[in-house]
Amino acid sequence: MIYDFLIIGAGVAGCNCAYALNKAGKSVAIIDKEGVAKGGSGAAGAFLSPLAGKKNSYNSLVNNALKYSIDFYEKLLPNYVTKKGVLRIQNDNFDETKLKDNEIKFEYKKFNDIEGYFYKDAAIINPSEICNKLIEDCDFYLLDAQELIFINNIYHIKDLRAKNIILTQGVSTPIISYPYVKISPIFGVKIDVKTSSIIPFNIHKSISVSTNKKDGTVAIGATSINHVLEGIECTTTCDKCMFLVNNDQEDVKSLLNQANQLIDLKDLEVVKIYKGARATIKSYFPVVGKIINYENSIKKYPSIKNGAKISSDLLEYYPNVYTLNALGSRGFVFGPYLAKILKDNILNDAKIPKEISLEKLFYKMARSRKI
Ligand SMILES: Cc1cc2nc3c(=O)[nH]c(=O)nc-3n(C[C@H](O)[C@H](O)[C@H](O)COP(=O)(O)OP(=O)(O)OC[C@H]3O[C@@H](n4cnc5c(N)ncnc54)[C@H](O)[C@@H]3O)c2cc1C
Repeated sequence: MIYDFLIIGAGVAGCNCAYALNKAGKSVAIIDKEGVAKGGSGAAGAFLSPLAGKKNSYNSLVNNALKYSIDFYEKLLPNYVTKKGVLRIQNDNFDETKLKDNEIKFEYKKFNDIEGYFYKDAAIINPSEICNKLIEDCDFYLLDAQELIFINNIYHIKDLRAKNIILTQGVSTPIISYPYVKISPIFGVKIDVKTSSIIPFNIHKSISVSTNKKDGTVAIGATSINHVLEGIECTTTCDKCMFLVNNDQEDVKSLLNQANQLIDLKDLEVVKIYKGARATIKSYFPVVGKIINYENSIKKYPSIKNGAKISSDLLEYYPNVYTLNALGSRGFVFGPYLAKILKDNILNDAKIPKEISLEKLFYKMARSRKI
């Protein structure tokens, strides 16, 4: 069988792409070297929270995606979505002045010893259940894609064949090079705890404590360590990374301390520790679209390096290869919204907003003349 689409990486990015294309009537296979939601996606909170503050293109993207995604998950798997809002507590980065000129509605609320800004459109979901549900009508293969062969307009990965490829590899080295998207892994730990305390909504300061989830546990997350500083390339999941394997106890202690400052968690027991790496780029924007072949484009139009304006239609693209990546700390917020944007681009030629396009990053790198 020749699939319409073969997706490499079964995290929230890949699973949402698979879902959107399958619902549009396409045959889809999705592969992963570790399993479904075993990368960063398996470690996610997964908190779905608004981004407050003065309106700009980044928080507008987050908040539009949030509105779309909560509604999407509620329709997909209502029993795995706990939508009770979030209480944001002031910290150094978030105070009353940041709320001015803010388009998201909030109310000031007190709860026990804490007070803050309450946003009702916030939720928590079960990341693994969501990813598995998204691909239930697609074919899944446990496979490490190391080579992509293109013959007669068909891509081959081992025995699998497809007309189109989507790379959703998170922090892993991509199977096709697109060096203008410079992914930095940001490692983190999240924990699930049992407690007899009742928490009416999610609470967020520098970390988040969830409301009591449908499975009875409470999520606390997440820590952030810039993996890149350690000079280690991500080749597998964080659970197996030599640097991180015995390095989570400090993170767990820190999460429990921070949670304790927000709310008294009675009869506390840590039931599970999750580790993962978030794929980010410097601007924090995600990236979506068809992959430009950097070397061939520059070879064809060397004047781009001197600032010549060459239309993106004229650049050299890898035929029928796309990506959705750099979802940062908001993969579950961005996933459904950006997968729809990518699907509409591939199937209906809908334009991808400039701030999340690969073209923007391509021109930036080309004109920096560093390579
Ligand atoms: C601790 C932590 C807490 C987080 N909390 C939240 C949260 O509360 N809310 C939220 O929205 N987001 C949260 N995130 C962010 C979110 O998890 C990420 O944005 C999301 O996981 C990115 O998904 P992805 O599909 O791009 O990458 P991943 O989930 O990492 O998936 C990439 C997959 O590709 C596979 N792969 C790579 N290369 C190959 C290959 N060659 N062959 C086969 N398979 C391959 C990998 O095995 C992996 O499974 C958190 C992340 C972390 C780490």
